[in-house]
Amino acid sequence: MGARNDELLARYQRSVMGVFGLPPLVLSHGSGCHVWDVDGNRYLDLVGGIAVNALGHGHPALVAAISKQAGEAIHVSNLFTSEGQITLAERLVELAGAPEGSAVFFANSGAEAIEAAIKLSRRTGRSGIVAAEGAFHGRTTGALALTHKPAYREPFEPLIAGVSHVPYGDEAALRAAVTSETAAVVLEPVQGEAGVLSPGPAYLQLARELTRQHGTLLILDEIQTGIGRTGTWFAFQQAGIVPDAITVAKGLGGGVPIGALVAFGPDVAGMLTAGQHGSTFGGNPLAAAAALAVLETIEDQGLLAHAGTAGQHLVDSVLALDHPLITEVRGAGLLRAIVLSQPVAAQVAALARDAGFIVNPVAPHAIRLAPPLVISTDELDSFIQALPALLDAASDPEDLP
Ligand SMILES: *Cc1c(COP(=O)(O)O)cnc(C)c1O
Repeated sequence: MGARNDELLARYQRSVMGVFGLPPLVLSHGSGCHVWDVDGNRYLDLVGGIAVNALGHGHPALVAAISKQAGEAIHVSNLFTSEGQITLAERLVELAGAPEGSAVFFANSGAEAIEAAIKLSRRTGRSGIVAAEGAFHGRTTGALALTHKPAYREPFEPLIAGVSHVPYGDEAALRAAVTSETAAVVLEPVQGEAGVLSPGPAYLQLARELTRQHGTLLILDEIQTGIGRTGTWFAFQQAGIVPDAITVAKGLGGGVPIGALVAFGPDVAGMLTAGQHGSTFGGNPLAAAAALAVLETIEDQGLLAHAGTAGQHLVDSVLALDHPLITEVRGAGLLRAIVLSQPVAAQVAALARDAGFIVNPVAPHAIRLAPPLVISTDELDSFIQALPALLDAASDPEDLP
């Protein structure tokens, strides 16, 4: 993408561990829903740092909150607390509609929120965990045991014992798997990394019913789906259920690292007691200020409703292209996948990048879009107008319906 990119990527290759492969671009800055690379090329960011940049780039409310907080106190450790941390905990409990006596543990990432959830589940006195095939819960060794993809998991086995994976959305399999030995059922309301798959509300309702019957915790991983991404504060709210705990991260800090475990009700919130868990950085004043600014802006700017309408506009407009390579558009709100009849998502993403659009080839047949919640329909339309030519260039015409 230009000389400066190439030069920096050569240095990256020599000094940054290769776990991400070689990134295609070195980005220098962003504004709103656009980002620029170091050679000055501009891109419409339809991935938002993987559902993280909820307010896009350089949002004045977030910049102001972080700047102000940086001049006051960035970090105080959990030997102390801060007003921001307390207010954020109260806000998360309130937005989740969690009952009186609910409480929050703050971490620094999604995987750390899952680790806290795993430890919480151990306090039931049981050790079985039921997760779903296709699940992604993170890369730390505890979270990795719940993550399903064998290529991620197998090189690091043995991982924690007692985890079983059931086919996602299969009601009979879930019924068979949950027993009086099961500490927790851990599910994503929509599986993002698996290609944006939704099992539907009935499945989550069944999970609630089974876990209640067996005295098992229902822990929903809202790390990707939470903070307005699907059109409500949390995706579970569309299924009409109340879980025992949720994990949150990605969008919460708008790019500042923060994760959280929200435990619903005093019984669950009281399961981890003084000394049983901790974090040096978790919920520090800087991260809390960022998260409070994100939550306030989502509320003030009506971004929950916008995620719903902009997401529906995206679906309708992409389907109206009636392109033979597109089979469906999955997901909810502004967490979507354009599903292709040929396994050419990576080619489409590379062509899109050359044309100035960042999209994510989450699976060979699926292009994930998780743009900033502030994206306008005009910005979405600019991508949708460019899409047919990208699909034509990436597909094999011999093999289209
Ligand atoms: C991203 C993600 C995680 C892991 O979060 P990290 O911050 O990368 O550790 C866990 N669960 C889900 C559903 C995610 O999307």
